[in-house]
Amino acid sequence: MKTAVFPGSFDPITFGHVDILERSSGMFDKIIVAVVHHVGKRALFTLEERVEMIGAATRHIPNLEITSFRGLTVDFLRKKQAHIIVRGLRSFTDYEYESQIALYNKHLYPDSETVFILANSNYTYLSSSGVKEAALLGGDVRTMVPPPVLEMLKEKLRQRGELQ
Ligand code: ADP
Repeated sequence: MKTAVFPGSFDPITFGHVDILERSSGMFDKIIVAVVHHVGKRALFTLEERVEMIGAATRHIPNLEITSFRGLTVDFLRKKQAHIIVRGLRSFTDYEYESQIALYNKHLYPDSETVFILANSNYTYLSSSGVKEAALLGGDVRTMVPPPVLEMLKEKLRQRGELQ
C-alpha cells in the first residue's frame, strides 16, 4: 500500500492545499494530511481546529486521513510506515526552502522521498499567512479558502474582537 504524508501548518487550509490533495489523491492509496506543531511559530488556529477545517474542506476526497503530530516529520513517517512526503511548490523561493528540507529529511531517513507538486497557476499567489492578513484587514477571501474555513476564520476573528 502506497501511503504519502502531506505535512504542513495549514493555518488555515486554502484552495491551494486542497488542489494539491485533489491532484495527488489518485497517485497514492492513502494520503495522511498531518498538521505540524511548530515550536515557536504562533498559529491563529489550534491543531484541533486545523484538523477539523481540513476534514470539512476535503470531504470530497476519499482516501485521506487527517491528523496532527509534534516532532520530526521523518519520525512521523516511520511511525506510519510511510516513505513519501508530498509538498507543493509555488515559486523559486519555495523550491529553495523545500529542497533544503527535503535533503535534511533524506539524510535523517534515507528511505524517504519527497514528491513535489507544482502549484496550480490559479493559486500560486495563495498562502495561509496572506489569507489571514487579508481577512484581518476586512478583505474578501471567499476565492481563497473553502466555505467551512471562511466560517471558522470569521468566527476566530470575531472571538478575538478583530471583526464586527
Ligand atoms: P509549512 O509551514 O509546512 O510550509 P503550509 O501550510 O504553509 O505549511 O504549506 C504546506 C505545504 O503546502 C507546503 O509544501 C507549501 O509549499 C504548500 N502550499 C501552500 N500554499 C500552497 C498553494 N497555494 N498551492 C500549492 N501548494 C501550497
